[in-house]
Amino acid sequence: MKLIFLASLLAFGSYLGYTIVEDPGSQLFGKTVTAGPSDAREIALTFDDGPNPPYTDRILDVLRAERVQATFFVVGRAAVAYPATLRRIVREGHSIGNHTWDHSHLLVQSQATVGDELKRTDDAIYRITGIRTWLMRPPFGARDFAVLDEAKALGYTVVMWSVPLPNDWDQPGDATIARRVIDNVHDGSIIVLHDGNRGIVCDPRRTAPDLCDRAQDVAATREIIEHLKAQGYRFVTVPHLLADSVDATRTLAHSSQ
Ligand SMILES: [Zn+2]
Repeated sequence: MKLIFLASLLAFGSYLGYTIVEDPGSQLFGKTVTAGPSDAREIALTFDDGPNPPYTDRILDVLRAERVQATFFVVGRAAVAYPATLRRIVREGHSIGNHTWDHSHLLVQSQATVGDELKRTDDAIYRITGIRTWLMRPPFGARDFAVLDEAKALGYTVVMWSVPLPNDWDQPGDATIARRVIDNVHDGSIIVLHDGNRGIVCDPRRTAPDLCDRAQDVAATREIIEHLKAQGYRFVTVPHLLADSVDATRTLAHSSQ
């Protein structure tokens, strides 16, 4: 059924397919979060695809120096490879979200596999940090009914974004990344940067060095924070940003985590 649906979707053409399944704002398949309230000068920085030392740690250094809290959507296989960095994220007051076990494109997976991707990652995060997250972001932003059904059944709020992706993975220069973000921020914005590359565990002796190089994201993070602070924005975690808009029970149930 899922394959038939996917095939017919692709038959529309790849652009329309993208519009429906990866457009962060589309609510066709179910409700996702794309932004926080538009009446407060609060925004959320999110980092996908790590942990990925030393770049995740360098981003954490910037956040600490700027006294800013962010949200890290981590890939399970990278969390297991770098538990100390994952623990540091939590220890320094940031939030964690589930970005699946191996950054799989969930549209080609069965619903059971989607569940396994999320549960395996959740178990790893819990084993390493003692917390459970209720946030998830699908790799590539790709979701359909089955993905959202499964995420919801497991208790997740699916978090997309409102600022267009700055294509930081192409390494266009930190000033360009920062400018693409800054020019598109509004009250309640959710920003996506990348501290890793699809959860790939980079061994400097064996992997092409630029595959996991996120130095531009480190520099862009600092520039984005400095510019937007000067415009009066406050940086908060996704749970903080959503505190007034998700249902109170869920907020309470997770407030101690
Ligand atoms: Zn990702």
